[in-house]
Amino acid sequence: MKVLIIGSGAREHAIAWKLSQSQYCEKIYVAPGNAGTAQFATNVDVSITDFEEIAKFATDFDIMMVVVGQEAALVDGIHDYFLASEYLKEILVVGPCKAGAQLEGSKDFSKKFMQQYGIPTAKSQTFTTENFDEGLAYLQTQSYPTVLKADGLAAGKGVIIAKDFEEASYHFKDMLQNARFGKASAKVVVEQYLDGIEASAFILTDGKEYILLPEAKDYKRIGEGDTGLNTGGMGSISPVSFADATFMEKVKTRIIEPTLKGLQTENIPYSGFLFIGLMSVNGEPYVIEYNVRLGDPETESILPRIKSDLFEMFQALHDHTLGEFKLEIDPRTAATVMLVAGGYPENYEKEKEITGLENVKDVHVFHAGTKLNENKNVVTNGGRVIAVTALGENLTDALEKANAAAAKIEWQNRYFRKDIGFDLKALENKAGTSSEHD
Ligand code: AMP
Repeated sequence: MKVLIIGSGAREHAIAWKLSQSQYCEKIYVAPGNAGTAQFATNVDVSITDFEEIAKFATDFDIMMVVVGQEAALVDGIHDYFLASEYLKEILVVGPCKAGAQLEGSKDFSKKFMQQYGIPTAKSQTFTTENFDEGLAYLQTQSYPTVLKADGLAAGKGVIIAKDFEEASYHFKDMLQNARFGKASAKVVVEQYLDGIEASAFILTDGKEYILLPEAKDYKRIGEGDTGLNTGGMGSISPVSFADATFMEKVKTRIIEPTLKGLQTENIPYSGFLFIGLMSVNGEPYVIEYNVRLGDPETESILPRIKSDLFEMFQALHDHTLGEFKLEIDPRTAATVMLVAGGYPENYEKEKEITGLENVKDVHVFHAGTKLNENKNVVTNGGRVIAVTALGENLTDALEKANAAAAKIEWQNRYFRKDIGFDLKALENKAGTSSEHD
């Protein structure tokens, strides 16, 4: 079977790599892909939101499955576009329709959905320019820090944690009156701050049945010790020690199952991945956000731990047999370290030649912002450039391998965090120390 993957990050490289292991996958195309996917798949030079071109490609090349890695295409309705055509509707699209994609595309929608279906989440209210003054008054009554969220997609930048009323009211005005995030901040969600530790749960679902994938934890800040600006993600770990069986059981019964019931009640069909950003507050899970696709860099830690055939999982999605699917998981720990361009997430340079890729062994190297230049050398083509994933017997082992491999891949001004997993290590040490004293 021929498969088309939409996207160009390390997430899509990982999906393409995993599908390439399947005996059922005859040929893989990635639109637009990167230098990593070009090694074993065919890159297609088409924009991810140009549905007409994507549909034409799918028709001309007999594509039977489209895996949408990236949210913008889903929120813009790529799946609906395929369903609207007699021919294209036969193609299995992994990723929800526009209605389901609202869970990520509108924070206001997702908050109302969670409130409606009793899914634990931070208390919140939504404001627009119409009830702006009411919003300011509401901000005055809040305890701080408090969280402001642009309603729509804002490339991961739309969340502000304000330390006091002054800061909150500044950002509130900037978002609503100065359209700081364009249309995405025409509505602003003001949300209670949750103090806890984050992890993410992932399912593959047809809206009724689901497979629970391994959980992961990502590291969003650019600086060590989780400091500095937010990025697309600087690394990830799977499994997450505090997301144990008891915690995950709560996630299933209090969050996943009510979410699927809610979608059914609302008559919202859903087919694809659902990524649930969680905050554990004293061991109780709360939803921070929904995403309607896999995470990047979480995917780079999760997929190497899945032993099952990804194509067969998608087939089960298509056949509505996910409930019977026995997912095989590698018990080892995966650690992913993201190598980025110096200056990222602010200004950075591209076209830097990458060296040392041939020197790394026994790890997965997933490309993100890379391309081949005219001399066929791999050069940088974005902020996040390469993800290195190592599997180890434990967290320390996986991290040592991933960091050692990352150090061997170089280009001018490349940077990576050497402390991915630091908080999980601290938790492990604490648990170790307390059991010694017990
Ligand atoms: P989101 O885009 O909603 O995932 O938010 C981005 C980041 O902001 C999350 O990963 C959290 O670190 C933080 N965040 C979002 N909502 C809250 C909240 N209610 N309390 C504390 N931190 C939050």
